[in-house]
Amino acid sequence: MNAERITNYKLGFRWRCRRAGCNVITSPLKGTFFERGNVSILNTLRLLLHFFRKDKVSQAATDVGVTRKTAIQVYHYLHEVCEVAEAHDCIMIGADNDIVEVDDTHLYTNKYHRGRLLQRQM
Ligand SMILES: [Zn+2]
Repeated sequence: MNAERITNYKLGFRWRCRRAGCNVITSPLKGTFFERGNVSILNTLRLLLHFFRKDKVSQAATDVGVTRKTAIQVYHYLHEVCEVAEAHDCIMIGADNDIVEVDDTHLYTNKYHRGRLLQRQM
């Protein structure tokens, strides 16, 4: 895949496969949060900030400089993402035949120096 400059794209380019007979064109944003809508990445991030601060949609729209309708669409999408993430966290992992891999990097240390002291640190 090679980058091909397209100035009216959100990132200013798209990917094009140069292999003989392929010529597939794809967006670098395909499958990402930023693929949807016509809001710029910067404005999406600004709206995201307002969303997490629990600001009202009208306030967010005014501050970011988008229409109220656009802000509502982004907020709605963010709600969807939160719902999916929350639902995912409620699913218990593991069953009789499941293999669970444990990352032991922080098994004997405090991650980010938080939490209670381990026996060896006392
Ligand atoms: Zn290809």
